Amino acid sequence: MTIQWFPGHMTRARREIEAKLKLIDIAIELLDARVPLSSRNPMVDDILKGKPRLILLNKTDLADTRTTEKWMAYFAGLGYTSLAIDASTGTRVNEIPVKVKQLLHEKIERQLAKGITPRAVRGLIVGIPNVGKSTLINRLAGRAIAATGDRPGVTKGQQWIKVGTEMELLDTPGILWPKFEDQLVGMKLAMTGAIREQVLNIEDVAFFAVKELSKRYWDTMSERFNLTTEPPKDLDDADEVVRVMEDIGRKRGCLVSGGRVDLEKASGIILRELRAGNLGRITLESPEDMM
Ligand code: GDP
Repeated sequence: MTIQWFPGHMTRARREIEAKLKLIDIAIELLDARVPLSSRNPMVDDILKGKPRLILLNKTDLADTRTTEKWMAYFAGLGYTSLAIDASTGTRVNEIPVKVKQLLHEKIERQLAKGITPRAVRGLIVGIPNVGKSTLINRLAGRAIAATGDRPGVTKGQQWIKVGTEMELLDTPGILWPKFEDQLVGMKLAMTGAIREQVLNIEDVAFFAVKELSKRYWDTMSERFNLTTEPPKDLDDADEVVRVMEDIGRKRGCLVSGGRVDLEKASGIILRELRAGNLGRITLESPEDMM
């Protein structure tokens, strides 16, 4: 379910997370490895304040491996430990408790020095809707726990889930809002499937997707759809991008009377295949873009 974030929702979401922060030792911030910046809440540093934090790049099965490594180096440069995972199959998910313990090492040592037996470390998963929070909670719990309701305010009675012997996790994640006021961010989130098409026009999203793919992954796209057209010479020329969309439509038989291409149908195919990973591993943001 995609929610509309109004100021009231944002305030409520923030309060809910702040109440949960009081109960935990570490925040686990989940990002989409294909769009690590666009899938990040704009106020996350302010909201999490000084809490120890582990950053997880999720959906790495769909992301460009080399760019994921660059992102990990980028976050390391900012002083954060990060881990690249795939919550749907569980790849590297078992390293989460290890990293968490490493990050809380000093606190644990201090307790041991005082003769206190440290209790299990307590964590909270936070992230924007659709980034994979529930999938990860279920994976860590080893069973189905989290309801995939992504609305702030819809919290059931909270419980701790045991993850091995030394870690516990709140069964309800902290839901943060995306940086939706930035149109480019909205398009990228729609392209990856985090925002449903009902919110944005499907042809607009596919247009944006083809433009981005032409820029970064022309060969992959051209091969997948057997394109005969040339790559756009000027990506700011809308006609050039539409020419590519039409070629895709023709190759997939999306034709209407008079031999015209049904752009809406073609758009659906482009987005479906892209999101399913049929076009290969695609990352839409690289740390170099920020330089
Ligand atoms: P939440 O809103 O943050 O709780 O997100 P969900 O856990 O409901 O996941 C949103 C969608 O992403 C679901 O369709 C999941 O199956 C999918 N998903 C979650 N993690 C991964 C992953 O690592 N790889 C892939 N390919 N899909 C994932």
